[in-house]
Amino acid sequence: MICKKCGLDGHFTWDNQHFENTGQWRLFDLNMERPHNCPGMKVEEASLETTAPRPLVKCPQCDPLKDSSWIKREKFQDHIKTAHFGFW
Ligand SMILES: [Zn+2]
Ligand SMILES: [Zn+2]
Repeated sequence: MICKKCGLDGHFTWDNQHFENTGQWRLFDLNMERPHNCPGMKVEEASLETTAPRPLVKCPQCDPLKDSSWIKREKFQDHIKTAHFGFW
């Protein structure tokens, strides 16, 4: 049968034991002998995390070992002008 969440076609069955414990249905993968995790769903979650905006940028001109090389994005242009004499 096909998992409706991720569209994966596998040797699935509904997990009765899990339903009795939690009241929620989930698929059990008979080939893997473990509950089915939607692989497509996981990739989406991971890509969301990596594309989340980061508040700080690292100044390439500063000492990378210093915390002060991490600068707020909106302050970065000013920092380059004042600290590195408009190198960029
Ligand atoms: Zn699935
Ligand atoms: Zn700098």
